[in-house]
Amino acid sequence: MTETLDIKITKTTTSRLAQTDFTDLPFGKIFSDHMLVADYADGEWKNFEIVPYGEIGLSPAISALHYGQAFFEGIKAYKHADGKVSIFRPEMNARRFNKSAERLCMPELPEDIFVQSIAALVDFDRDWIPRNANHALYIRPFMFATDPFLGVAPSSTYKFMILTCPVGPYFSKTLRVKIETHYTRAAEGGMGFAKSAGNYGGAMLPARKAVEEGFDQLIWTDAKEHKYVEEMGAANAMFVLDGKLITPSTGENTILKGVTCDTVMALARDWGFPVEQRRVTVAEILEGAKNGKLTDAFGAGTAATIAPVGSIGHNGEEYFLSDPKTREFSQKVLKTLDGIRYGNAPDTHGWNYMV
Ligand SMILES: *Cc1c(COP(=O)(O)O)cnc(C)c1O
Repeated sequence: MTETLDIKITKTTTSRLAQTDFTDLPFGKIFSDHMLVADYADGEWKNFEIVPYGEIGLSPAISALHYGQAFFEGIKAYKHADGKVSIFRPEMNARRFNKSAERLCMPELPEDIFVQSIAALVDFDRDWIPRNANHALYIRPFMFATDPFLGVAPSSTYKFMILTCPVGPYFSKTLRVKIETHYTRAAEGGMGFAKSAGNYGGAMLPARKAVEEGFDQLIWTDAKEHKYVEEMGAANAMFVLDGKLITPSTGENTILKGVTCDTVMALARDWGFPVEQRRVTVAEILEGAKNGKLTDAFGAGTAATIAPVGSIGHNGEEYFLSDPKTREFSQKVLKTLDGIRYGNAPDTHGWNYMV
């Protein structure tokens, strides 16, 4: 049985909605009027509240800041033409939220409470969900440790919070990506599968170096040999090679199990398109780029949606792919996904959680 979550609501007295320019929404910089906050203490979650978005007071000794007991999720809500609102597959994020929590020795949050918290906040700030094409409300749930204690030990108190941001398209251009052969994002036995804050801090220097070399994104490879493709920045790497959809297997726990990647694989299967989730070698991707058998390559993620790769750099060489507008597979995925998320096509898998 699902219990209805009791949430205390304090409405803002100074809404920023009217002065927000919905035609200019840089990713993650504009926040909706409200946020959700809850506390974990004495072994239970309590004090669920929706409050005006703003600063919160914290001890400078909290272990989230010193030892990285912190992780997050990323989800989107969409406004349909008839005004209805849907959140895309939040149960998947609820499950992954708890996988991250477990790996970081942090408390789990019951899946239905996670989903109800998101739905309540999205519903309360539903006027913040953009109506324009390719726009959405980005939802950022996160949890962090709050014990004011400098010992290296799991905290006994935590905060769960949710912020929301109206957003437009994340990448506006075709990506020039670099296959990383020096730095590593995650190793076997590590926490690559968790959306833990530390994974992203460690990725910033390699990503900045790639940008200095003229690239937009990195393709991460395995920590041992740099021979296998893992992910693309904060998106999963997907390819169409020799007429098959190919994406790296997540069995080694170094790769984040993306909701978007899972969705793309499900659509491909619906269409009878062959899908292979297996180890993907850098060599076969580069070979495919050279001989023309690599007909599609993109990053798949909630923030980025489907981000087409235009060229791939590897050890000083650059391999160019076809014009993304001419790519059958990713164009069809984008069209189908948009149809479902914006309520213009039947949601046969039940992916839309209606608010
Ligand atoms: C969030 C994320 C993804 C994409 O996951 P989605 O659930 O599709 O948003 C892929 N890789 C990394 C490293 C990520 O952080």
